[in-house]
Amino acid sequence: MNADVVVVGAGPVGLLLAAELRLAGATPLVLDRLAQPTSEPKARGIGPLAAEALRRRGLGEALAKFHEQGLADKARDHGSEKGHFAQIHKIDPDLQEEPERTGALIWQPDLERILAEHLASLGVPIWREHEVTALTQDDSGATVTVRTPAGERHISAGYVAGCDGGRSTVRKLAGFDFPGTAPTSVVRRLRGDISGMERLPEPGWLPKGMLMCAPGMVATVEFDGFPEDRAAPLTGEEMRDSLYRVTGVEVEVAAVHDTLRFTDVARQAATYRLGRVLLAGDAAHVHSPNGGQGLNLGLMDAVNLGWKLAATVAGHAPDGLLDTYTAERHPVGAAVLHNTRAQSALLRPGAHAAAMRDIVSDLLDLPEANRYFGRLLNGLGTRYDLPYPATHLLAGRPCPDLRLTLASGETRTLADLAASGRPLLVHAPSQPEVARAAAAWRGSLDVAEATVEDHDGLSAALIRPDGTVAWASAPGPADTTTLTAALHAWLSPA
Ligand SMILES: Cc1cc2nc3c(=O)[nH]c(=O)nc-3n(C[C@H](O)[C@H](O)[C@H](O)COP(=O)(O)OP(=O)(O)OC[C@H]3O[C@@H](n4cnc5c(N)ncnc54)[C@H](O)[C@@H]3O)c2cc1C
Repeated sequence: MNADVVVVGAGPVGLLLAAELRLAGATPLVLDRLAQPTSEPKARGIGPLAAEALRRRGLGEALAKFHEQGLADKARDHGSEKGHFAQIHKIDPDLQEEPERTGALIWQPDLERILAEHLASLGVPIWREHEVTALTQDDSGATVTVRTPAGERHISAGYVAGCDGGRSTVRKLAGFDFPGTAPTSVVRRLRGDISGMERLPEPGWLPKGMLMCAPGMVATVEFDGFPEDRAAPLTGEEMRDSLYRVTGVEVEVAAVHDTLRFTDVARQAATYRLGRVLLAGDAAHVHSPNGGQGLNLGLMDAVNLGWKLAATVAGHAPDGLLDTYTAERHPVGAAVLHNTRAQSALLRPGAHAAAMRDIVSDLLDLPEANRYFGRLLNGLGTRYDLPYPATHLLAGRPCPDLRLTLASGETRTLADLAASGRPLLVHAPSQPEVARAAAAWRGSLDVAEATVEDHDGLSAALIRPDGTVAWASAPGPADTTTLTAALHAWLSPA
């Protein structure tokens, strides 16, 4: 065996998964076909759940450095700092139920650099120019065949995690079903030297498609005009033709800096695990980037999977733990595909979609509706089914960054206490029965005696490594029977 887990793909999801595996005690190895990380500026930020997950690992400061510039870039490109549903930029962060739970604006290459540094600090290798071309698995492990500049080699591990993007080779080689809907629209984006942009109409929704412009950048959304070869890179000529179809205006593209073409194809792997092969991120689900959800979704796959797979590899996972990965994450992915399909329908040209857009735009002026659309996109409404009674409102939900006063009198946030990646049990000094109930698990979790300062009705919580509240208690005598059930479900006694 070369590693406990071979992670295929050093994109953001593969990098974070490998880091989570390492923190939880496994030995991962990351492979990527590229010689260098790509500088393609795809995502411009991550949602609150992924941002909180990274802050829990001590990456908050690094993320924060990019946020102000991200806000300025967003205002420049979209004319607004607000979030959007189908390019209707009205989702107001200040109107949301938990406005303090914020995402982080950061261009994807900067995020990948931060994640790669985090991974390096944990001593996990990335083998570049290693392209996976074949895969086999049996009861004892899995082996990938890899093409490298020095020739072909075979790499074996207990498990293989396919984090190799939307066209995932691992997904295809392992035989995952990938059902969904075919593309209805194509987006083209070009950055470069473009002359004649001043003749283009106001950006926005036009009868033949959508136009987006910023200094040195143009983009279109079309519902026909698909390229013959979708794998071929977008050229200046193709961009010029698309702009002409959408606006009737001819521009000249003198120099191309970078281009991007993608569709709203929406597909999801039927399961995220087949034997010893798992999928995470775009390898498990593809959809249109409308609403900026893909990276958030993929990074949350990674934090959900990391500790479960590490416990499985080490042989101390409770029965069925690894299968809760698909059970918990598949419905979350399906909900994202669902709302991106609705956004595609709203972006179609024609009087019917135009009428619907007007109605959705009016709805977004209502605070309750604004919160509804915000919740669709930010994932804060996620709630996992638990295999025992959910006896508190927070049970099964992503834990907010609690403010805690420790027994020593010091103030800390949850993020301050979670860098180790271990499960965390917090309880009020008046609830010693909580610590007693968890005594047999003391070797597998961190315990903090602390008072929760900012959440009435919460005095104790068991928080999984992925930030999910596994169990929680209101002030007063704690329900230790359910706590014990939760500990059995997620952790083996050390
Ligand atoms: C224009 C655009 C804007 C977006 N905006 C947002 C946004 O604002 N917010 C958001 O949350 N999401 C956004 N997304 C989505 C986000 O970019 C993706 O969800 C994200 O890149 C997925 O990360 P990943 O690690 O799963 O896959 P990828 O980033 O695709 O990484 C996959 C890696 O696997 C490697 N690889 C592939 N095949 C092999 C192989 N056979 N062997 C070895 N290595 C291999 C690749 O080289 C690559 O490094 C956007 C996407 C686009 C296109």
